[in-house]
Amino acid sequence: MPKTRKTRKPAKQGGSTKTGGSAARDGSTKAACILFASAAIERLEADATLPAKFERMLKRLPLRRISRDATVAVKMHLGGGHDSIGYTTIHPVFVRMLIQKIRDAGARRVFVTDGSLTVEGAKGRGYTEEVLGVPIVPAGGIDDAHFYPHKVRYKSLKTVEVVGAIETADALVNLSHFKGHGDCAYGAACKNLAMGCVTETTRGHLHHLEGGLVYDESRCTKCKRCVRECQRGAARWNKERDRLEIFYHHCVYCRHCVLACPQEAIRIVGGGFVPFQHGLALAAREVLKTFDPARVVHITFLTQITPYCDCWGFSTPSLVPDVGILAGEDIVAIDNAALDLTRDGEPLPGSLPPDRPLVEGRHLFERIHGKDPYVQIQQMEKIGLGTPAYRLQEMK
Ligand code: SF4
Ligand code: SF4
Repeated sequence: MPKTRKTRKPAKQGGSTKTGGSAARDGSTKAACILFASAAIERLEADATLPAKFERMLKRLPLRRISRDATVAVKMHLGGGHDSIGYTTIHPVFVRMLIQKIRDAGARRVFVTDGSLTVEGAKGRGYTEEVLGVPIVPAGGIDDAHFYPHKVRYKSLKTVEVVGAIETADALVNLSHFKGHGDCAYGAACKNLAMGCVTETTRGHLHHLEGGLVYDESRCTKCKRCVRECQRGAARWNKERDRLEIFYHHCVYCRHCVLACPQEAIRIVGGGFVPFQHGLALAAREVLKTFDPARVVHITFLTQITPYCDCWGFSTPSLVPDVGILAGEDIVAIDNAALDLTRDGEPLPGSLPPDRPLVEGRHLFERIHGKDPYVQIQQMEKIGLGTPAYRLQEMK
């Protein structure tokens, strides 16, 4: 049950471009300004490296307006649970730099936060109070029981439970790591809020929106040909229930199982991954509603980009060379820019197992996961979270 509530009314959404870019890529005035620190260096000098550019980027952000006299939540995805061995998250050096700048900007309190289970593993990846200088707080309390229900209407989703540490904070720094994701092609600013600022219950419900493969058990002769034909390990046989099950995270909607089935017991209907992406946009909107838009900023690291989400709790070699860091006040623009900067990448040797052939798609992550990542961008724009138009301003 809720214990405290912000006294001011939830801020109206509708984009956060007021301090954003003054010109679009196409010259219009609606584009958001996205700061870009490239990982590429022009000189072999400390001042030309990514931490130095990040320092300059932080000076350009309106951290004083966002942080002054505020309790500031720095929302990260800290990785998997306590037994994970992942290291391809945001390096603690950058988090420490950010927190120092937030404090210098006059914040009353600062804390780093993530889902209640994920926080347990933070120490293993180098995120400690000693290193960061601020507490690392389970967003929904130690038992994920501190939340505020938000009424919504989307398919079977009727409530989004926004976790207490987020709902009661005054300001939000949405610090995300850009990577691939099996269920929605990519994870970055939107997913950092939608999955990480809600309870386990809401997270589970959002995942149950996935679908698209319809299995008619009454027609099935249990030959398991579908399982053998699935190259992704998505078609699985449930031994206990003696029936087919689909693990949508791995499914690329290639139809091999459909074509292999001699009984026509499997059908593909609609875009099965779309409801999950729409659900993410909706949950992100509910999280952002709890903040004054003038007190929110998004920072996304396009470094150590991996095919799977940090929540798997393991690391793989980088899929593409490091791109850099993006920052801005428009969540749609920053996610769109991150996708555009990686769209045409080719997987580096060794970054994917040999048994992962790429499929058709307009983005690298669609070619890996079979899901169009831009669906999330379109939906975020549709529900008024911002604009996909952006203007990159590179930090030198
Ligand atoms: S291929 Fe068709 S009939 Fe055979 S197990 Fe799969 S669903 Fe059942
Ligand atoms: S559609 Fe393709 S990836 Fe998905 S379960 Fe069927 S065979 Fe596997």
